[in-house]
Amino acid sequence: MTLGILGGGQLARMLSMDARRMGVRTVVWSGTPTAEPTAGVSDLVINRPFDDETALVEFTDQVDVATVEFENIPLPTLEKVEASVGLYPSAKSIGIAQHRSREKSFLRESGIPCAPFALVNSLAELESAYAEVGPDAVLKTAAFGYDGKGQVRLSSADQLAAAWESVGGEPSVLEGFVDFDCEISVLIARGADGECQIFPPAENQHRHHILDLSIVPARVDAPIRDEACRVSQQLAEALDYRGLLAVEFFVEKSGRVVVNEMAPRPHNSGHYTMNGCVTSQFEQQLRAVCGLTLGSVELLSPTVMLNLLGDMWHGDPPELDTTSILNTEGAKLHLYGKTSPGERRKLGHVNLVGGECPLTRVQKLKSHLLRNSATA
Ligand code: AMP
Repeated sequence: MTLGILGGGQLARMLSMDARRMGVRTVVWSGTPTAEPTAGVSDLVINRPFDDETALVEFTDQVDVATVEFENIPLPTLEKVEASVGLYPSAKSIGIAQHRSREKSFLRESGIPCAPFALVNSLAELESAYAEVGPDAVLKTAAFGYDGKGQVRLSSADQLAAAWESVGGEPSVLEGFVDFDCEISVLIARGADGECQIFPPAENQHRHHILDLSIVPARVDAPIRDEACRVSQQLAEALDYRGLLAVEFFVEKSGRVVVNEMAPRPHNSGHYTMNGCVTSQFEQQLRAVCGLTLGSVELLSPTVMLNLLGDMWHGDPPELDTTSILNTEGAKLHLYGKTSPGERRKLGHVNLVGGECPLTRVQKLKSHLLRNSATA
């Protein structure tokens, strides 16, 4: 069996590592000139743009089935791969998730709770949307936004013109600001026969709009966790989904959960499963995509995941203090093989499992790794 993966970042790397362990070959089509995380890890890496017809043939000739590691792949490429070898999740599901307007509209049509929103294509539309959704709101570009990029916070009408300019006049979504208690996420796998397996929800904390910590189990009441799982399954079924789906939620002060966004692939907040669960999110993706029985999602130990961003690398040349990590009880280090540590780049993560209170150990480790960091 050979699995094709569109995208060559860390998610493709970790999927390839699980695939290799399970006797499945991987072919990555990165879409970029280089793909450091997958080099030497996947069986073959095709470093060519996604609109390259020769690369399409090279890729589809060698794989039995394909999946994605990120959603921003041109829809025509997804459709051609799907028609040729089969693509899970489907081009339709990925097409919905890659575009905020389509995603929000789909959520609303499917009766899934989300923040109030309006689609905006001009300053005039932004003004009328703001009257409906404001005064506390967030303007988000419809395409290519992640980790808070392409977002502007609004609290008064005199900010609208500048906000519209700052999103470059691109089609956008205006969302009501949710005064949430915390953010949680759910990873759900849906198999070929419609069977669903749902990993325990993670509680997510951010630093500079980028995921910092995932705490599992999420520290919310059981009915909140159950409701988030129920909504995630409703969404997977509405999409007739096959593969792994990540759903991010805001938990409102009232206890109500509303969907923030979804990702049609493994997710940073699911990295805890690599050491915390019987089955990792990557093995589960492979199982769903290749038509195998889904694995157990049982949590083996409370787990906390700490993202390692570039600002934890110090010195010249910049280095990470891996010794401190490896000497921390129950710390499992995962590095992504990236050689240029930009301040806010995700370069790896650590899962803390077992023992007493992994959160205390993670906080200590995090402040050590951030020492002297200007951006802590
Ligand atoms: P996103 O890229 O849409 O996931 O947004 C990044 C982060 O911005 C989220 O994890 C939230 O912390 C915050 N955020 C985004 N949208 C809203 C909203 N409508 N209300 C409150 N906070 C938001």
